[in-house]
Amino acid sequence: MADSQAAVKQGETAAPNKAPEAATSAPADGGTKCKNLEGAMGGMRDPSKTKEQEESDEEECDENELEDDDDDDDDDDDEEGFMGMLQNFLRTKLDLGGGGEGEKVLDEVSVEGVVKYIKSGKCKNIITMAGAGISTSAGIPDFRSPGTGLYCNLEKYNLPFPEAIFDIEFFKVNPKPFFVLAKDLYPGAFNPTPSHWFIRLLHEKGLLLRHYTQNIDTLEHVAGLPAEKVVEAHGTFRTSHCIGCQKEYTQDWLKEEIFKDLIPKCEECNNLVKPDIVFFREDLPAKFFELTQSDFPKCDLLLILGTSLTVQPFAMLINNVPPSCPRLLINREKAGSGDPMMGLLHGMLSSSGLALDSPRNIRDVALLGDCDQGCAKLADLLGWKDEYEKLIPCKAEKGEKAEE
Ligand SMILES: [Zn+2]
Repeated sequence: MADSQAAVKQGETAAPNKAPEAATSAPADGGTKCKNLEGAMGGMRDPSKTKEQEESDEEECDENELEDDDDDDDDDDDEEGFMGMLQNFLRTKLDLGGGGEGEKVLDEVSVEGVVKYIKSGKCKNIITMAGAGISTSAGIPDFRSPGTGLYCNLEKYNLPFPEAIFDIEFFKVNPKPFFVLAKDLYPGAFNPTPSHWFIRLLHEKGLLLRHYTQNIDTLEHVAGLPAEKVVEAHGTFRTSHCIGCQKEYTQDWLKEEIFKDLIPKCEECNNLVKPDIVFFREDLPAKFFELTQSDFPKCDLLLILGTSLTVQPFAMLINNVPPSCPRLLINREKAGSGDPMMGLLHGMLSSSGLALDSPRNIRDVALLGDCDQGCAKLADLLGWKDEYEKLIPCKAEKGEKAEE
């Protein structure tokens, strides 16, 4: 079931939900223009800059990294040497980036070990953290990869550059491209993937503490997760607000406007109405900050699904679980192995990223490959296969929809 679904659009999708992923890098960035940080934000471009400006910024950044003044080359070398020494010192003396300092929970640091742990009944507060990878098999088109989507459609959407579509300042001046795209990608046109159904199953089993998603496609809701179980870190299409008087509008109202090819305007003050998704230069929802503080210390298993953990502050959440809490990454490639120095800069001495390749790793496991297949494997190993497949709407029906 998962196989056929995954095969439908594999390789050509990475989801529009990647855009707000990127969008959040703006508030998270906090104005820092250091290359390392920008890299950590997923390599997204600042929409206010041309490529040339950016390249020259990057050069400046290389030169000025971690120092205030312009120095000559010799000083740069000294600086690198010093930073290298400092890093080594911290790694050895402060035990950074080597793995867990918590208690060993898994008998075996493997998928089987995680399965055994879940089956033991000791794990009751699972947090799932998801990215675009859990929605790719829904057929949500990738607009960010060169050669597809927006990169071929700059004319259709009348954009100066692809990311402008999620830039709040651009939106205020020219909202039309966003609403044309919103119509094309309107939630409801897509079905939840087997990965979404797996998260629903965790909820059914009473094991899900919370689902944190970077996606804005609302597919977790379509899969029947209750609203209080979901934190949409990058916002949602389910509600909208007037950017002037803040009057709230429903999804139905917005949908009607969008499908009539109108620019949604506030009935009270005639300002623009925008879905509550996080644009560039906008803050993340308050719910994100409130719940992460109370949830993560309680977490006893972290499942990271379909995200490369490149966008902050979402990616950093993996460090907020207790030091003994096992973390399972289900993703196409390894991710989240943080730089100890970055952890230090963020004020987290204890842990920085997944310790997948560390010899002292006692809790981090990667199940590499397609997210849907990973979830199916997990369900199978847990002995939940029948229940899981019953949850997923019939394969034939989905196959037809995918072909339409
Ligand atoms: Zn208004």
